[in-house]
Amino acid sequence: MRYPKDIEIWESAPGRRLAEVVIQVNNVKGAMADCSRVVSEPGVNMLTGFHAAPGTSTLARWSFFADVTDAKVELSELKERLRSVPTVVSVDVMASEDGFMVDKQHFPVQWSGRRAIIFRADALSEMLQRLWSVFGSGAGTIVDQMAETMGRHFANETVEDFGRDFAKAQLDELLMSYTALGYADVAIERSKTADFPVVVHTKKLFECEANAKKRLHRKSVFFRAHLRGFMSALFGEVFEVTEVQCLTEGDDVCSFGITVRDDPLEQVTIRPAERQTKGRI
Ligand SMILES: [Zn+2]
Repeated sequence: MRYPKDIEIWESAPGRRLAEVVIQVNNVKGAMADCSRVVSEPGVNMLTGFHAAPGTSTLARWSFFADVTDAKVELSELKERLRSVPTVVSVDVMASEDGFMVDKQHFPVQWSGRRAIIFRADALSEMLQRLWSVFGSGAGTIVDQMAETMGRHFANETVEDFGRDFAKAQLDELLMSYTALGYADVAIERSKTADFPVVVHTKKLFECEANAKKRLHRKSVFFRAHLRGFMSALFGEVFEVTEVQCLTEGDDVCSFGITVRDDPLEQVTIRPAERQTKGRI
């Protein structure tokens, strides 16, 4: 099962009174349950939110939008009640009478402790499309180099965070980051007898989905190069990534064979008897 992941950007509920609540607590068992009771008891309806409680931190943070139209207490009173919970360190509440509010209480946006920026997939696809319109086939080189750099950057930061040996051992998990980041719904197929080739199956890959919608017979350039950069920087070898089937050619999923560059390309096709798959295809 895959569930959509909503990033807290804004809340819209016309005609309703909204609030955004940010609670910092000591990172101990039951802290959020205590806060949750205090919030829900006077009729506050919690909406989209998120919590951050890193295992290595003594502090945790719980942030959420709420519909407070039917709340039986003023927000100042709610704040005081939350502050009186022993595990609570601080509480911030902002309100909107307009049924619409943007999250103004969080910055910078981070992914694994590093600054991140969120793009909409359609906007990124349009940007790539513009490159193809302006530069023609030359866009392929620009997109390829740009994406390979991003992939290498991702691998280098991962190695910095976890060490190369651990990161290499966690390759399958790390490849699933493409799902966590929204690029595609990923499944990994491995050979039982050799480390490579690895085949990455991607459902709904944003890039090919956009091309397929426009009826463009153009396979992935961005994702393929990102994956190649990631693998090459992670293993310190030159990798080749080949898209062996693609949405834009009528296939159900886009599949990428990853192999060390010197390997014969035909090895990308794994015989069914040797297959072992993680995730969903
Ligand atoms: Zn494709």
